[in-house]
Amino acid sequence: MKKILTKMKMPFCQGCGHGIIVRSIAKALEQLGYENKDTIIVSDIGCSGLVDPLFDTHSIHGLHGRAPALGVGVSLGLDNPGKKVIVIQGDGGVTIGLQHVLEAARRNIDITLVVMNNLLYGMTGGQISGLSTRKFKEQRDFEVDVPPFDIVKLAHVSGAAFSARATSIKTYPDVMKEALEVNGFSIVEFSSLCTSYAFKKLDQLQEVIEPPEIFKNERIPVRIHQRVTNSLFDKLDVVEKQFDSKIKSGIGVVVAGSAGGGVQSAAKMLATAGMLSGLHATMKGEYPVTVGTGFSVAEVILSRSYVNYTGLEKPDVVIIVSEDGLNKVRGKIKDNDTVIIDSSLKTDEYPDAIYGDFVRNAGKRGAALAALAYWLKNSTLIDVDALKKAVSTHKYSKVLLEAIDKGMS
Ligand code: SF4
Repeated sequence: MKKILTKMKMPFCQGCGHGIIVRSIAKALEQLGYENKDTIIVSDIGCSGLVDPLFDTHSIHGLHGRAPALGVGVSLGLDNPGKKVIVIQGDGGVTIGLQHVLEAARRNIDITLVVMNNLLYGMTGGQISGLSTRKFKEQRDFEVDVPPFDIVKLAHVSGAAFSARATSIKTYPDVMKEALEVNGFSIVEFSSLCTSYAFKKLDQLQEVIEPPEIFKNERIPVRIHQRVTNSLFDKLDVVEKQFDSKIKSGIGVVVAGSAGGGVQSAAKMLATAGMLSGLHATMKGEYPVTVGTGFSVAEVILSRSYVNYTGLEKPDVVIIVSEDGLNKVRGKIKDNDTVIIDSSLKTDEYPDAIYGDFVRNAGKRGAALAALAYWLKNSTLIDVDALKKAVSTHKYSKVLLEAIDKGMS
């Protein structure tokens, strides 16, 4: 059987307790006969999040505090009791994402959560966490009146099948084994030494931590009954090539306007027109979280070859139909870009810009599409009929076709 750990050197500070916990997890897995490919490590942010490359298993790195939710998703998605999902996070991550732990425990989802508790946020310089004990905080003269969360008891009362706190490093592999053998949600809080921001020696740590304990709930894991839905791809229409394009390799187009101005749908129509012309196309939208106010910008890449990266660092064509849009894309415009601007936005910034009465002729909602039609007609890179074809199935196709006609005239 292959070793569970890679040969990589532990990335932690000298004397850090996290390495002992990592080795204990690996030892327990090996003793239970888990193969590397049967193990999925889900890590969090913080020093505990440095574990990914140490395990020669599947691994996935989560957001701070969210690793348990990610692990739940992996476990439910796998629905395979032969696989083992181990979520690893620190006491800081547990504090931040406490609800995720409680929900996983409440549902008794089949994952093992390892909490590396060193009583502080190590990666950010030793701030106390929600699991910092009273005694530890007392030493630091810090709000001792606020009790710490007891994550072991909280998980237990929430319904976890197995909840344990292990404080003696000799017991770590055995407690880990017990947790791994549980059918359902198991959590082990391991005490860990942070030599950089807490203690240099284990016995100093022992003086401030809570005692070991183990709780069990006789439960079987909850199975979530999932609705079988079709893939989102099944809902997409297949776009067949019907037109020719003069685009030789690729082109990037930015459409910039205001929220509610039809910018995103105009860009989508351009991307579809590209596909109808035998090109690969991507479209990426950007707008604020607010609705109906602020900028709306879309980037479209049309290419003869497959688009691996959808970011558009240097656009070739920039179409601007409102002040919001101009303010947003100003820094992106380079000297040799083709810049098409609505006449209401006359500016000295782009001496070679082409102006058109898009808003006046096609209205605020039709201006972006009208400007695109104008550009296509003059550049002849894509047949305007491809754009018309792209809008023909839209529920507002009549209005959109009018906007295209107005742009062309
Ligand atoms: S800061 Fe503390 S927890 Fe982080 S690696 Fe160093 S000793 Fe370990």
